Amino acid sequence: MFNLDDLVRPNVKRLSPYSCARDDFHGRAGVFLDANENPYGTLNRYPDPYQRELKDRISRLKSVPVENIFLGNGSDEVIDLCFRIFCNPGQDKVLTLYPSYGMYEVSASVNDVEIIRSELTPEFGISYSDVKKHFSDRNLRLIILCSPNNPTGNCLDNETVERIISEFRGIVLLDEAYIDFAAQPSMKDKISQYPNLIVMQTFSKAFGLASVRIGMAFTNAEIAGYLNKIKPPYNISSLNQRAVLRRLEKKESHRSQVTRIREERTRLSGEIAKLSCVVEVYPSDANFILTRMKDAAKIYEYLVNKGIIVRNRSSLINNCLRITVGSATENNKLLRALKNYK
Ligand SMILES: *Cc1c(COP(=O)(O)O)cnc(C)c1O
Repeated sequence: MFNLDDLVRPNVKRLSPYSCARDDFHGRAGVFLDANENPYGTLNRYPDPYQRELKDRISRLKSVPVENIFLGNGSDEVIDLCFRIFCNPGQDKVLTLYPSYGMYEVSASVNDVEIIRSELTPEFGISYSDVKKHFSDRNLRLIILCSPNNPTGNCLDNETVERIISEFRGIVLLDEAYIDFAAQPSMKDKISQYPNLIVMQTFSKAFGLASVRIGMAFTNAEIAGYLNKIKPPYNISSLNQRAVLRRLEKKESHRSQVTRIREERTRLSGEIAKLSCVVEVYPSDANFILTRMKDAAKIYEYLVNKGIIVRNRSSLINNCLRITVGSATENNKLLRALKNYK
């Protein structure tokens, strides 16, 4: 059965984390002469390594206790830290769906972790039997699932995802970067039920803060503890922490932006489907649309020449472009260009 102790790399269990000046002293003081900071200026102090104020705020927003929250320098840092905690380089393996977010494989390769690809079905769903056949592989430590999935745009079937979480004895990292655009709810409330589950979200998409680089992981307190233990102590700058706090003061604006993007997604999908250069528009639970074209490479080049950049995903899915839902004005420019394509 699941035993976290068996999954954490021995060197990670053994190491004692870097102890910074502010670890030794908590509380309010007038004179800080403990961290070799410059006494002058407004950005002269190190940020809070545990981001307490921000986590408090996120805890209320997401209804997840503070001890179950980890914040990374983007989701990308959370992914990398998971490899470092759970996968011995040159020995252990990760299973990811294919096609999915490219960062999983890059991060696996950086950490010298072998990748098992489980191909999505033609409808872009998980093949449970294909994933399950790898459960007996003792070196498979981590399964990364992405829902809604990038670049296909669809949510994975929640029941299948939950079955994998409950039957796999390793760690499941569920990437919900696009969950705010989806119709189905997050699985974050399942972290109390499954000790091997890490649910990841981000401020980069629905919150419009890609530049700020903050990713969230929701998981049991023990795993959150390991993530905190091995992260660089000041992984999130005070400017970035403040940017999120300021953004969260305007809850209405977040909600109205997500609504507007979802409405534009519906409109854009409908309009693109009518075009003669398009073969199929796939349903999307995200803020982008995957479309199959008659000739994706040609249309990609044509759009570049018009100053419109989409993503050509043909190397992953034959003749497919991934189009981010922009503002109404941007989407109209795209539609006008595509209508004029000959
Ligand atoms: C955009 C995206 C992210 C966000 O990554 P950050 O490092 O938080 O900006 C995570 N996962 C997927 C699948 C994405 O497409």
